[in-house]
Amino acid sequence: MATASPATDRSHRAAKRYIYAWGEGTAEGNAGMRDLLGGKGAGLAEMTIAGLPTPPGFTITTEACNDYFAAGEQLPDGLWDDVLDAVKEVERRTAKGFGDPANPLLVSVRSGAKFSMPGMMDTVLNLGLNAKTLEGLITLTGNERFGWDAYRRFIQMFGRIVLDVDGEQFDHALEASKSAHGAKQDTDLDAAALRGLVDDFRGIVKASTGRDFPEDPYEQLDLAIKAVFASWFGKRARDYRKNQGIADDLGTAVNVVTMVFGNMGDDSGTGVAFTRDPNTGERVLYGEYLTNAQGEDVVAGIRTAPKIAQMETDMPAVYAEFQRIGQQLERHYRDVQDLEFTIERGRLYMLQTRSAKRTAAAAVRIAADMVDEGVISKEEAVARIEPAHVDQLLRDQFDPAGLKAAVRIAKGLNASPGAAVGRAVFSADTAVEWVERGEKVVLVRVETSPDDFHGMAVAQGILTARGGATSHAAVVARQIGKPCVAGCAELVVEYSTKSARSTESGVAFAEGDWISLDGATGTVYQGALPTVSARFEDQPELRKVLGWADEIRRMGVWTNADKPEEAAQARGYGAEGIGLCRTEHMFREGERLEIVRDAILVANAATRAKAKIAAGEPVDAEETATIERFDSAMAKLEVLQQGDFEGIFRAMDGLPVVIRLIDPPLHEFLPNLEEQLVKVTRAEDAGGASEADKELLATIKSLHEQNPMLGLRGCRLGLMIPDFVKIQTRAILNAQIAVKRSGGNPIAKIMIPLVGHVNELSRTRALLEAEAKAVEAAAGRVKVDYKFGTMIEVPRGALTADEIARDADFFSFGTNDLTQMTFGYSRDDAEGGFLLKYVEDGILPVNPFQTLDDAVAGLMKMAVDKGRATKPGLELGICGEHGGDPASIAKCEAIGLDYVSCSPFRVPVARLAAAQAALASAAERDK
Ligand code: PEP
Ligand code: MG
Repeated sequence: MATASPATDRSHRAAKRYIYAWGEGTAEGNAGMRDLLGGKGAGLAEMTIAGLPTPPGFTITTEACNDYFAAGEQLPDGLWDDVLDAVKEVERRTAKGFGDPANPLLVSVRSGAKFSMPGMMDTVLNLGLNAKTLEGLITLTGNERFGWDAYRRFIQMFGRIVLDVDGEQFDHALEASKSAHGAKQDTDLDAAALRGLVDDFRGIVKASTGRDFPEDPYEQLDLAIKAVFASWFGKRARDYRKNQGIADDLGTAVNVVTMVFGNMGDDSGTGVAFTRDPNTGERVLYGEYLTNAQGEDVVAGIRTAPKIAQMETDMPAVYAEFQRIGQQLERHYRDVQDLEFTIERGRLYMLQTRSAKRTAAAAVRIAADMVDEGVISKEEAVARIEPAHVDQLLRDQFDPAGLKAAVRIAKGLNASPGAAVGRAVFSADTAVEWVERGEKVVLVRVETSPDDFHGMAVAQGILTARGGATSHAAVVARQIGKPCVAGCAELVVEYSTKSARSTESGVAFAEGDWISLDGATGTVYQGALPTVSARFEDQPELRKVLGWADEIRRMGVWTNADKPEEAAQARGYGAEGIGLCRTEHMFREGERLEIVRDAILVANAATRAKAKIAAGEPVDAEETATIERFDSAMAKLEVLQQGDFEGIFRAMDGLPVVIRLIDPPLHEFLPNLEEQLVKVTRAEDAGGASEADKELLATIKSLHEQNPMLGLRGCRLGLMIPDFVKIQTRAILNAQIAVKRSGGNPIAKIMIPLVGHVNELSRTRALLEAEAKAVEAAAGRVKVDYKFGTMIEVPRGALTADEIARDADFFSFGTNDLTQMTFGYSRDDAEGGFLLKYVEDGILPVNPFQTLDDAVAGLMKMAVDKGRATKPGLELGICGEHGGDPASIAKCEAIGLDYVSCSPFRVPVARLAAAQAALASAAERDK
C-alpha cells in the first residue's frame, strides 16, 4: 500500500483550515492525522490514497468542533463557506448535485473522534433527501421501494438525532405499519406502505418540534454538522470518555461522505467485519453482513445478520475482493482491522477501517501470532497488550464441577468471554442503583444501546436477547472487559414485569434472581455458580508474551506475600522475589492471637523490668513473674514465626525474601476499646468482671492513641519494646539455617519500617546485629547471611535518605504511608470520605493511593538520588500498593528503581507494565 502522502494545501475562508477532502484516488489527509481528522477521517483518507474503493467526501476537523464550542456553539466564521466549496468538489467527483432533483447527491454525516467510541456519538444517513430529490432517486434507480425506504430512514434518524424527537415514536409507527401490512421484517414493507410511513414520520416531527421536516438539503447539512458536534458532549459520550479515560477536549471530527446504498436490492448489502476473530484472535474473517440493508441494521441487531462467510456464497467475487482488501489493510496497519463496507449493486465500497477492539485473549494471541508471522517485533507485541488485558485473562471462570450440575436457562452468542455472576436487573439505571448499594448485577436487555453504557460499566456481565457478535452489547462488553452473552433469541425479555423466560427451556427469572453467564460459551445458568480463578498455566500465548516482556524490562518484579501459598502462587506468575512479607499478618492466625495478646498485656511492664535488671537494679517477685510471662509468650511466638519463615524461604528458594519487622500499632491486636469497656461494665453490673477482662481493658486504655498511624508503630515499637523485633530476627535467621541445612537456598533481607531519622535505623540495626551474631555463633558451620534495609515511607526519611543509606543495604518505598504522610490524608479514612469526591470533582486527577502522585514520586526520586550518592549499589524497590499499578510502575522506571513488588495476582500485569515502561523510557531517550 502507498505510504500516506503529506497533506496538501487547500484554500479556505475560515481563519484556519478546517476541511480535508478525499476522492478519486487522492486525499488531503492521511493515517497520521488522527488528532485532527479523527480515526474515521484518517482511515478514509488513507484507504483512498491506497487505491481502495471509498466514496468521495470530506472531513471537518476536531479543531472545528473545539472552536465551535469555544465560540458558544457557533460555527467558526467562514467554515460554512468552506463546507459549501467542499460539497461542490464532491458534486464534481460524483457527477451528482446536492439537492439536484434530476441527479441527487446524498451524503452521510458521521462523527469520528481520535479514539473509537463505538456508537457513542451520532451519524445521519441519506442526508439531502426531500420530496423532490426523492423523485429523482426513484427515477434514477427505478426502485420506488428503495427510495421511500431511504427517505423514511432519513426522517427517522434526522428526527431523532438532529431534531431531538423521541425515537420510540418512530419505532411504534414502524411496528404499527408492519402489523397493519402483515409484515414480519422491515424489508417486507412495500413502497406504498413506506410512503404511508413517511407521512406518519413527518407528522411525528411536526407534532414534536412544531415545525415541518426541513426540506432544504443545505439546512439539513448545517443542522446535522452541529448535531454531530453536540453529540461530543452528549451524556453517553461523556460517560464513555470518563470510563475510558479519554480527554474531553479532543473533540470529534465530522465526516461528510457520499452515500452508497446497501439497500438497493439483493445485489447490494452492508456489513462489518474483522480481519481476525476479535474473541479468540483466530486468523479468519469474522463478522456479519446483510443483503439489501443499510449500515445501522447490522449494528443495531434489528435483523439477525448472517455470518460474513455467507457472502462467499452470495457474492463470490465481492467476497474475494473484500478478503484481499482486508489483508492489505492488515499488513499496512500491521494490526487487526475492523472494517465497515457497503456493496451497492455488486460494487464494493470501504467505509471505515480501524484497529479492532478485541478481547484480552484475542489481543494476546494476535500479538503472539503476528510476531511469529514476522509482521511485528516482540517489542511491538509487548507494547500492544494492555495491562488490563492481562488482568482479564486471569479473571475467574466457572468451576467445571459446578457447571455439570447447573440448570441451563438459555444459550446465546458467546460475545465476550469470562464468568459473570450477579442478580438480574433489567435497566441500566437499576444496575447502577443496585451496585451502589453493594450488589453484584447482570444487566439483561432486549438489546443495548449507548444509553445503557453506565449500566454495562458497573455490571458483572451483560445478557441481550437480540443482536450479534458485532452488536453494541458485544463490542462494548469486549472493550470494557465484561463477559457478555448476546443475541439470546430464545429469551423473551419483558421490561414491564422485569422478568425473562426461555421459550426453549421454560426457565424464567425475575429482577433480583441470581444468574450466571458464561461469556466463553454463550450459556446462561440459573443461580450463582461457583467460579475458579483463571489458570495462568493454561495460557501459553500469555506466558510467551510475558516472556518477551521479561527480556525487555529492566526492573525486577517481586511480590508482597505473607504466606508460603501466596509466595508459591506469585512465583508461578513469575515473581522474582518477595519485596514485602508483613510478619504481623501471621500474628492473627488461630492460637497466635492469644499468644500475641498475652505478650502485649505485659510487654511494657516486662520491658521496664528488664531495663532495671540491665541497669543492675533489683526487681521484685511480681516483676520477675511478668518477665517470665512475657518471655514465655515471646518464645512461643518465635517458634511459630520460625516455622512461617521456613515455609516462605522454601517457596521462594533461591530468590530474595524481604521480611519486614513488626509494623502496626499494638492496639490492632487487641479488642476495640469501646467493646471491651461495654463488656466489662456489663459484667460489673451483673456481679463482677473477670480479672483477665479488666487487665485487657486497662492495657487497651494504656495503649490508646489519638493518631495511632502516627504513633507507636514501625521501628518506634521495636525501639520501645525490643523483644518483638529481636525474636523476629532470631526466627528469620534460624529459619534460614534450618532451610540451608535441608539443602535450600534461602536469601533473607530484614526490613525495618517507618524510619524517619537515621538514629532510629542505626539503633535498631545495632540491636538486631547483636541478635544475629548470637544466632551465628550458635549456627556452627552453617553460614548465616542477611541484609538489613529500611522502608522509606516517612517524608523525613526521604529527605534524609543520604544519612539513612549509611546504615541500610536496601530501601523499599512504602508508598502507602508515604502518600498518607505527604498528603496528610489518613489512608484508613480518606477513601471512604472526601477523597473519591475530590477525584470526581477534579480536585485531584486520580486517587493517589492507587496511582503514584507526582509529588510523592518526586520525594522518591530525591531519596533515590541521595541514597545512591551515599551508597552507589543501594538496592531500591517499591512495596506500596502502587507497585502493581501500571501508571505508577512507569514512574518507578523513570526514577530508576531496581524492582517493583505487588500482590501475587498483579505480578503478570506488572511484568508487562515494567516492560512497557522500559520501552517508553527507551523511546524517550531516543528522542
Ligand atoms: C506502605 O506503607 O506502603 C507499606 C507497604 O506498608 P504498609 O502498607 O504495611 O503500611
Ligand atoms: Mg507502611
